[in-house]
Amino acid sequence: MDRVIIIRYGEIFLKGKNKSYFESLLINNIKHALKPFKHEFSRSQARYTVSGYDVDFEGDIVDTLKKVFGIHSLSVADRVETDFEGGFPLVKESIKALAIRLSEENTIENPTFRMTVKRADKHIPMASFEIAAELADTVLKNTSFTVDLTKSDYDIKVDIRENGVSYIYTDVIYGAGGLPVGCSSKGMLLLSGGIDSPVAGYMMAKRGMKQLAVHFASPPYTSERATQKVVELRDIISPYTSEMPLYVVPFTDIQLAIHEKCPAEFMITIMRRFMMRIATVLAKKEGCTAIITGESLGQVASQTVESMTSTESCAGLPIFRPLIAFDKEETMALAQRIGTYETSIQPFEDCCTIFLPKNPAIHPNLKKVEEAEQKLDIDRLVAEAVENVKKF
Ligand code: ATP
Ligand code: MG
Repeated sequence: MDRVIIIRYGEIFLKGKNKSYFESLLINNIKHALKPFKHEFSRSQARYTVSGYDVDFEGDIVDTLKKVFGIHSLSVADRVETDFEGGFPLVKESIKALAIRLSEENTIENPTFRMTVKRADKHIPMASFEIAAELADTVLKNTSFTVDLTKSDYDIKVDIRENGVSYIYTDVIYGAGGLPVGCSSKGMLLLSGGIDSPVAGYMMAKRGMKQLAVHFASPPYTSERATQKVVELRDIISPYTSEMPLYVVPFTDIQLAIHEKCPAEFMITIMRRFMMRIATVLAKKEGCTAIITGESLGQVASQTVESMTSTESCAGLPIFRPLIAFDKEETMALAQRIGTYETSIQPFEDCCTIFLPKNPAIHPNLKKVEEAEQKLDIDRLVAEAVENVKKF
């Protein structure tokens, strides 16, 4: 007997002729994610199995796989030789061990179970339900459990495969769902230290978008620790995005120039227009086809329709805003689930919070913004920022 992790994929099933492309991406991403662990990977039809690992790391491997998009569900199973002619001795032995363990761990009063057998091996001259009845007997003999087929506390599953092996397991663990990262091109995520943008990156990765991230820092107004926080956020979401190189752009000179030369009410809008220009240059250099932000409609002055329109005209690529219709509460719940929340709420300054005007224009007029910007040497400022970018 050995322990294995069964992987089932989700939406790829719908992909018809392109299925093999999606599958090979998913397999590559799984192999990439599992690089830190000794293991063997194998596939048979629509299922993959991971085996040959150190059982001490089983939980870590499952946690790692739960972050790989494209995986619908996982099960940790015992894999044994079927040996039907011999009367399933190894299957029964494994079920006995499982039943004893469940019984020891059980805290439910009058626990019930059901046995579900799937028989892909059609050479076996017994129906699935007959096999299930025989195997259920092993559970009945070794526990105080009773059978309940409709609402059982424990659902013991036995998959009898064609290659002479059977898989025995109870739990189905849900994976991240979505599509394998890499199937939907590549995007440049504007990653601040806040709650929203890491979640936005997660959302786009869910639909298969590979990503790089860009962060704008304004030292000495923003500290080294603030940038470190962004690196930490990147590290938390990169298991979902497969990997995520991070650019840090020096933004101080641009902010000082805007502060000095442009009306305060347009400070934020003009600043965000620069972010878009710089992100576009970096994105195109990296072969990205979209820019991603954590904006949500109406959340702050810079996220009204007019504000977003006036920054959009500086982006040379489509902007994806997966959180556009999310309430803050929904984003926060998701941030907690993916593990970015605690880091995001650490109180470090963001470049957006310095030189913040008292009365920013909530519905900035694009013409006026463009006029105000004329006082700046836009091309030079963008070129300098791009030249001095640091890649993590
Ligand atoms: P977040 O929680 O993601 O910081 P926010 O609610 O603070 O969002 P804004 O500060 O208006 O909103 O920023 C809107 C979006 O602009 C962010 O979600 C992010 O994508 C991008 N952004 C803001 N500041 C930066 C920055 N310093 N570096 C990179 N991107 C940024
Ligand atoms: Mg922010």
